Amino acid sequence: MFTIKGKTTDWELVIGLETHIEVLSNSKLFSGASADYNPTISPNTQVSMVDCAMPGMLPVLNEFCVEQAIKMGLGLNAEISRHSKFARKQYFYPDLPQGYQISQPAEEPPVVGRGWVEIMGDDGTPKKIFIERAHLEQDAGKLKHDAHPTKSFADYNRTGVALLEIVTYLDVKNPQQNSFITSPDEAERYLREIREIARALGVSKANMEEGSMRADVNVSVRPVGSNEFRTRTETKNMVSFKFIKSAIEFEARRQIEIYENGGTVSQDTMRYNQADGTTSVMRSKEDALDYRYFPDPDLLPLDIDTDTIERIRRTMPELPAATRARYIGDLGLAEYDAARLTESTDISRWFDAAVAGKKQRAKPIANWMISELFAHPENWDEKNALDASNPGDFRIITPSDLAELVDMIASNAINGKQAKEIFIKMLDGERGTPAEIARKFGMEQITDTSAIESAVDAVIAANPAQVEQYKSGKVGLLGFFVGNVMKATGGKANPGVVNEILRQKLA
Ligand code: ADP
Ligand code: MG
Repeated sequence: MFTIKGKTTDWELVIGLETHIEVLSNSKLFSGASADYNPTISPNTQVSMVDCAMPGMLPVLNEFCVEQAIKMGLGLNAEISRHSKFARKQYFYPDLPQGYQISQPAEEPPVVGRGWVEIMGDDGTPKKIFIERAHLEQDAGKLKHDAHPTKSFADYNRTGVALLEIVTYLDVKNPQQNSFITSPDEAERYLREIREIARALGVSKANMEEGSMRADVNVSVRPVGSNEFRTRTETKNMVSFKFIKSAIEFEARRQIEIYENGGTVSQDTMRYNQADGTTSVMRSKEDALDYRYFPDPDLLPLDIDTDTIERIRRTMPELPAATRARYIGDLGLAEYDAARLTESTDISRWFDAAVAGKKQRAKPIANWMISELFAHPENWDEKNALDASNPGDFRIITPSDLAELVDMIASNAINGKQAKEIFIKMLDGERGTPAEIARKFGMEQITDTSAIESAVDAVIAANPAQVEQYKSGKVGLLGFFVGNVMKATGGKANPGVVNEILRQKLA
């Protein structure tokens, strides 16, 4: 059910994503030119004759890119096609010096077939999002329109770099199945999952800001419980989670409004306007490009043998879905916590390093990470998230710091309040381990009952009126006494012990 301004509507969303990830490889998909096109590299310095389709040039498929695609396909739990093809997808645009893009024809099996990824659904339980296909294709160049008042510039360094396009699946024969994306939040979680799988496998940096991950967003709406899919629109080339969510919201509302006013949605290609978060028609389906896939005798069929697939399968690391299952099954974490801790591989590696196989640490460490680190973005910069193999390099709080802190609470060396103080000191740049900081600031917890007892006696003696009220039934005053004892002990007393002694003495 789609909500507009907190009000649920009778409509639900159907979302299909076509996600392009830039394949990590030294050279391009069909040429030996460098695939590094970062903005510090001079324009048009990494373009080979093949990238411009000079006559007589022979495109040669980059085997490494194919292996990367197979790896990603396995990460998407997908079938790998033993035979697939490449062809020329013919169109003219100034960012395409070849006059065509080499891609895998839509009507034939691509290198990666049907698969699925698991995300956390909006209801808080795991949900499978079906994948229709993933195919290899060439990226285009980059146009620059804002560098000169009357001229545009083309940089072809990115031309021909390998992209893997991952397309989500809608089973039109079975419109009641629920294995597709149905909300802006699910779209974000899906894209993050794709990103983390790609990163864990080293297949792509999958970084939206850098343009190594981009998505086309297909949206339609239908009445809740409907037995069909309605016409969708496609918003092209989205490069941020925030914009994608906002574009989906806007499109959904726009389409709902059209239907509620008795109109029909037309199958248009939209552009997203960053300035005001709206979408507008870029081209309508009537004048849509009719792509023709031209066979090219120089593009050899792609045959993959099972040995290659099995060899790659054996190198697969643990992927986020398996990590989540391990956190829930072995470490006893809640589904929500497991999902948060696997949002990025950096996070899960940090968590694993902190837990270090000690199961009793898992829950407190998860709590500290989620409520104290993630809730304060200033404490947790994803880009700087600690590389667990290199503790202490970027951040003040290391996995072993947090591990030591929760161990100290568990052994009653410090109480929760003191732990929080130590934590804040660490964030503020205090050097040393939590134990060292506790010692330096005299924060060892007092568990010695006789010391606590004398503090309790003093507080009782100093507050006869409150003692009277407590004894006549105002038991809520216990907190007052606890507070005073804590103050008297400089916050060092074990609150559990304080509570117990106070109750006894006031009874
Ligand atoms: P095209 O080739 O025209 O882009 P595809 O059939 O490949 O279209 O679909 C592209 C994406 O759009 C897929 O992810 C698909 O699931 C999704 N899609 C198709 N029909 C709909 C619909 N009615 N509503 C939402 N998404 C859709
Ligand atoms: Mg499309």
